[in-house]
Amino acid sequence: MMGMLTQAGAELTPAADDADVIVVNTCSFIGSAQQESVDTILEMARHKTAGKAKRLVVAGCLVERFRDEIRKDIPEVDAVVGTGELPTILAAAGVSSSPTAPSPFNILTSRPEGDHRRSHGRFSRDGWDGAVSDLPNYLYDDHTPRLLTTPSYSAYIKIAEGCDHPCSFCIIPQLRGQFRSRRFESVIAEAEHLAQSGVREITLIGQDTTCYGEDLGLKDGLPLLLEKLAAVDGLRWIRFLYAYPNKITRRLLETIAAHENICSYIDVPLQHASPSVLKRMKRGGGGDLFLRSIEKMRRVILDVTLRTSFIVGFPGETEKEFDELCDFVREARFDWMGTFGYSDQEGASAFGLDEKLPAQDIESRRKKLMSIQKKISQGKKKSLVGREYDLLLMGPSEETDLLLEGRTAMHAPEIDGKVFVNDYPSKDFPADEAPQKGQFYRCRITEAHDYDLVAEII
Ligand code: SF4
Repeated sequence: MMGMLTQAGAELTPAADDADVIVVNTCSFIGSAQQESVDTILEMARHKTAGKAKRLVVAGCLVERFRDEIRKDIPEVDAVVGTGELPTILAAAGVSSSPTAPSPFNILTSRPEGDHRRSHGRFSRDGWDGAVSDLPNYLYDDHTPRLLTTPSYSAYIKIAEGCDHPCSFCIIPQLRGQFRSRRFESVIAEAEHLAQSGVREITLIGQDTTCYGEDLGLKDGLPLLLEKLAAVDGLRWIRFLYAYPNKITRRLLETIAAHENICSYIDVPLQHASPSVLKRMKRGGGGDLFLRSIEKMRRVILDVTLRTSFIVGFPGETEKEFDELCDFVREARFDWMGTFGYSDQEGASAFGLDEKLPAQDIESRRKKLMSIQKKISQGKKKSLVGREYDLLLMGPSEETDLLLEGRTAMHAPEIDGKVFVNDYPSKDFPADEAPQKGQFYRCRITEAHDYDLVAEII
């Protein structure tokens, strides 16, 4: 949206006080995200009433979920833009008229799983007031104007949109539509443009990156894409996030292992480890199966960094099932782990389940699981002291000017810990000889904290 607006002549500002048009891009994944979105819309509505702004536009997933309510309950909102209607941002912002015809970027592909689940109501939005019946089908491509909001050396590339999985706690498929992949050549072309403009680190995202290409008739779509990206000049770190557990194939692991510029890093949200909870989550699998899969990842990719996330307090989760999850975490020894308390979502099939757990029980389980992981993390980080890594320097530390900070290939942008740099060879020299942000340096780890590291550039 920012790329399209800029191309159409709009000037962007992050300051609501300066804006003629305010756009609030929203999330609607879980209750707290919906609340944050609504609070921000109300705050911006006050800006419109009291300040310079003449238009207020609400975009994103909250629009897919509460289209009519937003318009009815917040009269200051002038226009809404759903996740499938991105080109209409121009008309919504009053920058220029935009076509009402389908976006030229739409690509109509689907997977048999998605078509089957659609015919069984997985994507139904019947109970949602004002939801348009057409599911979002938008996909950007390499010709879509784009404005990077990340530092100039790092970029995300969305390779697919939507999701065909039936996870019973999740409404993302209804918000984002059926799974569809961007064309192979389009992703490569975008990566080449980004690399030419100075991007050195690419993070591939999508609701499920490991299904990439299945709707295009590609077998091993993600490994093939990674191989092509690894050959793009200038890309130093390539990684993908959000793998689905049963889609991590040997071919994918071997592709990661075979390329120096594909990070030895796998992010696989497992959500739980108890087979009975996973069954109620409509995900399948279980701790034993996951441990075998993790063992294979560690065998094929030496020094692989593993990240996962879990949901605790799913309806009916017993003490015994939660203990199974704790035991699994102790055994799997992840490098990075996130834990979320179950959030009840109207429209998700788990919403109808009995035996909802009290909020305080969910929170105490969340804390307990994180305290188990904290000890594992301490041990893992300690074992890195004395080892050498390539470090991507991000600039002065956000915590103190006395330190620099950066990341290694073990750290995905924004979600994992950091490496603080407290020493480098030219420290006593003029400032212009100091290490530069966006550049890679060899470093030695000198200290370990619970999640963060301290290093010296060598
Ligand atoms: S795979 Fe992820 S996005 Fe898809 S339904 Fe499951 S939790 Fe939601």
